[in-house]
Amino acid sequence: TEGTYARLMTRVLAVANQKGGVAKTTTVASLGAALADLDLSVLVVDLDPQGCLTFSLGHDPDKLEVSVHEVLLREADIGDALLETGDRVTLLPATIDLAGAEALLLMRPGREYALKRALAELGDDYDVVILDCPPSLGILTLNGLTAADEVMVPLQCETLAHRGVGQLLRTVGEVQQITNPELRLLGALPTLYDPRTTHSRDVLSDIVDRYHIELLAPAIPRTVRFAEASASGATVLSGRKNKGATAYRDLAANLTEFWKNGTGLLTLEG
Ligand code: ADP
Ligand code: MG
Repeated sequence: TEGTYARLMTRVLAVANQKGGVAKTTTVASLGAALADLDLSVLVVDLDPQGCLTFSLGHDPDKLEVSVHEVLLREADIGDALLETGDRVTLLPATIDLAGAEALLLMRPGREYALKRALAELGDDYDVVILDCPPSLGILTLNGLTAADEVMVPLQCETLAHRGVGQLLRTVGEVQQITNPELRLLGALPTLYDPRTTHSRDVLSDIVDRYHIELLAPAIPRTVRFAEASASGATVLSGRKNKGATAYRDLAANLTEFWKNGTGLLTLEG
């Protein structure tokens, strides 16, 4: 309809990198809140046994009876595990039980498809589902990539050691060949970016040269507000205006245009 966006088919976006500390969880929480502010219905899924996303959205993993673990193992319906959060975003939470899911799923046929099957039960209840993948390339990340339409790779612009990127891109390629031919690699999202240093820029152009991967715009600047936000159980988008929140809002607008109007994604020059 005019003036407002038409409803989307559900888009499932995986946020994946087997390296920890690259802002996967921060990106899922902040992008989810920014998309909800654009009036999209958003579900975020915690696929990390550490439960950092669950915790940062105001729920204590230790106090949950039902979580993504039971859903993946078909011991609970997905609808019974969903939680509301303060940011108008729905959460499928994780608990430390998920650490055992890896081994339990290994013995099951169709183990890569457990999440895809569970999300299918939701029909088109959500416009966007964002998956917070754990820092490994194990069965949980394979479930995320198999369930996803698209994958985004947060990369911190801090160090020149990016050997993990090649391995991740190989895994994405294998998933495209075997369990999810529709999976699309959107690109890398530069995170913890410091525009004052040339080092950040050097790291980014090195990655583009090496891996021929798109860099999604805008880069997310390093700001102290993120640490404050995750400690307080609220995302960085709530509270005062800051550069990080603005960057995630711009990223949400970029993705929304891409999804709804089919325009090209805005990318950075390497
Ligand atoms: P991952 O999920 O990839 O392990 P996190 O999202 O947990 O990464 O982020 C790792 C740490 O970096 C956290 O302490 C988080 O608060 C911090 N962080 C994330 N993004 C930013 C940012 N733009 N500026 C400053 N700190 C950030
Ligand atoms: Mg994380």
